[in-house]
Amino acid sequence: MTTVATERLIRPHGGELVDRTGPRPDDLDRLEQLALTSRELSDLDMLASGSLSPLEGFMGREDYEKVVEEMRLSNGLAWALPVCLAVDDAPGGDRVALADGEGRVLALLEVDDVYQYDKEREAERCFRTTDEAHPGVARLFAQKSRYLAGRVTVFERLEPSFPELAMDPAETRAAFAERGWKRVVGFQTRNPIHRAHEYLTKGALETVDGLLIHPLVGETKSDDVPVATRVECYRVLLEGYYPQDRVVLSAFPAAMRYAGPREAIWHAICRKNYGCSHFIVGRDHAGVGDYYGTYDAQLIFDEFEPHELDIEPMFFEHAFYCRRCGQMATPKTCPHGGDDHVFLSGTKVRDLLAAGELPPVEFSRPEVAEVLIRAYRD
Ligand SMILES: [Zn+2]
Repeated sequence: MTTVATERLIRPHGGELVDRTGPRPDDLDRLEQLALTSRELSDLDMLASGSLSPLEGFMGREDYEKVVEEMRLSNGLAWALPVCLAVDDAPGGDRVALADGEGRVLALLEVDDVYQYDKEREAERCFRTTDEAHPGVARLFAQKSRYLAGRVTVFERLEPSFPELAMDPAETRAAFAERGWKRVVGFQTRNPIHRAHEYLTKGALETVDGLLIHPLVGETKSDDVPVATRVECYRVLLEGYYPQDRVVLSAFPAAMRYAGPREAIWHAICRKNYGCSHFIVGRDHAGVGDYYGTYDAQLIFDEFEPHELDIEPMFFEHAFYCRRCGQMATPKTCPHGGDDHVFLSGTKVRDLLAAGELPPVEFSRPEVAEVLIRAYRD
């Protein structure tokens, strides 16, 4: 890696990129073994790679309390969501083995603390609701009743679902440096990219050196578009409509929490670790149902001092094609009314695709729509 070049990039959160990978200990067989949930496994892998820098393990009580109440770690550094490992009981030893659902041991945790936590309060503060219909709240309420804290050492990484798209923060940083980029904008998505989001990413790219399209590939709700379909959509879109030397497509291994505003902050901090100096925050970022106001995920950035996050959020309103303007626009840039705008509801788009019909080109690139139509057919 060219150290000189990566130094041009934004520094990781807290200053140093954490690396919690390490050798497999000899006495692993004698240790108590804990099976992690899919969300915890995503977090573990992100701890290993430094995506969650400066965290080195699952959070202790002081960090947890301050994150829940003040969106700061105990050392004062901004942090928006708990990264915790739920257990029933305190483990017997001072080290435990962490395993996936199939019993494959991936990591070691040095036990620091085991503590009670208040699920209602965590839900209220982090998700702004205690409604069990909220998928993040439902998962929180279903999990075990105590948190196990401690530093982790990961000796076996998760199998990435898309190996060719798997890039750790050190790798995206190297890729940006290789291209000579300094200012890079990250785009989080868990949906196919239609014209509206293409417009946002390109609008952002106009002002920086490069674009990281960083779709979340960890666990999502069952009614979100399956990740394999989405990845194919991104590929055809990038091939046809983006300059290859200005864009990096890579997978973001996080699980969705659907925590809306707080997750927008969390997503931004993670992307800073990947080397992004800017981060796109659209309407209802990481939201679900109608738990959050349309622009809450943008307003929450005002709760931080300018240099606490360092990464610069780029706020966008919803985009559409305007027939009178003859181009993509947003309410910020188009003075015309809804009658001039090409608008299709999510339901309408799904109906069209399911019937094998292409939505208007002003809404979706035909190559992307074709991928979705094929996915509906299978
Ligand atoms: Zn217009």
